[in-house]
Amino acid sequence: MSPLFRHCCAFGSHHPHPLIWRSIFQTSGREQKQIRSWRAQCSANQDQASIEKSNAPKNLAIPDDSLLDARILYCTSPALGHNKEAHPESNKRVPAIVDALEKLELSPKHRGSQVLEIQNFNPASLDDVARVHSRSYITGLEKAMRRASDEGLIFIEGTGPTYATETTFQESLLSAGAGITLVDSVVAASKLGPNPPLGFALVRPPGHHAVPQGPMGFCVFGNIAVAARYAQHQHGLKRVMIIDFDVHHGNGTSDAFYVDPDIFFLSTHQLGSYPGTGKINEVGQGDGEGTTLNLPLPGGAGDYAMRYAFDEVIAPSAHRFKPDIILVSAGYDAHVLDPLAGLQFTTGTFYMLAFSIKQLAKELCGGRCVFFLEGGYNLQSLSSSVADTFRAFLDETSLAAQFDDPAILFEEPTRKIKDAIEKAKGIHSL
Ligand SMILES: [Zn+2]
Repeated sequence: MSPLFRHCCAFGSHHPHPLIWRSIFQTSGREQKQIRSWRAQCSANQDQASIEKSNAPKNLAIPDDSLLDARILYCTSPALGHNKEAHPESNKRVPAIVDALEKLELSPKHRGSQVLEIQNFNPASLDDVARVHSRSYITGLEKAMRRASDEGLIFIEGTGPTYATETTFQESLLSAGAGITLVDSVVAASKLGPNPPLGFALVRPPGHHAVPQGPMGFCVFGNIAVAARYAQHQHGLKRVMIIDFDVHHGNGTSDAFYVDPDIFFLSTHQLGSYPGTGKINEVGQGDGEGTTLNLPLPGGAGDYAMRYAFDEVIAPSAHRFKPDIILVSAGYDAHVLDPLAGLQFTTGTFYMLAFSIKQLAKELCGGRCVFFLEGGYNLQSLSSSVADTFRAFLDETSLAAQFDDPAILFEEPTRKIKDAIEKAKGIHSL
């Protein structure tokens, strides 16, 4: 764990710090209206004309015939301007993934109509973001861009070690917009046939720590939370399941939906890791009691733990909840080589998760499923694990044996893992 991470572990999940925000960002009540011009372009098919509409229904990102052929749709938002030297959440992350997809022949160039990148998508509108975050936070961040422009880089006090540069606001809206675009496209495809493509938002800054009142833990806007609300609002997909397998607890997503019975938030994470929330007995509140499930895993847990957790906790929860869409906070920092945590996932673990979640979506919600990049700070293990996720989406065999070295793994603490899983099953009557 980095010193930065340790430094900010004190913030409680359900008690964010709006006051600090007010002192940093002067709020203006004015809402900036954004008119969307809807333009999407498939890089795999250069003949296709862009589709442009003003204030259009947002479900026409890709023409129907392309949607029918595609197995994977993805968007990239690398946020090249949002960067701080030597910071693990760096602007090298998305390009490293894109390089790996290229090298492993998983890009549109190699896969034709099977794998499509949606380019030129729109940023999220302020209204989209405001379904999750307070207006004072959004307008405050926008205003802070002037100071960031003057100073180059600012730290946002009281929010965990979250920095901002002059492009942070726009680039964060774009990342949230990528998720929205993928929800639109996957939903549109699910109306055309029973096997819609999987979506993957290869975006940063990540989102799952950002609380309704502010950013936190490298995260600016809750990309997945914004997409969940959007799926409900725009497409009438009432019941949303969010599976978060990042090594850290998705406290921001949890906060946004803690009392909401229609959004099931399930997080697996390393016990005691940042930000210290996500205890096994945090199950939601009021009407939302029972639709939050936390499974903290002991340090050293890995492939065995996650397969067990999937079979005994994740799959039964999903079957019982019966979602209309599954969204996934796909953090790759539980990888054994990741520098920020102490779990022992391998490339093969991420392949198994992607494959199994894809099957769940097929069984339960017409295949509607979008992954969102969260953490993952070892560029090598991050990019090979995302590539293997793509291979799982394509029903191709895993290349994990090329990347994983079993010799570096320690024995998993099976007793503690069993205890944790059985306890979660007991609490949730699974
Ligand atoms: Zn993480």
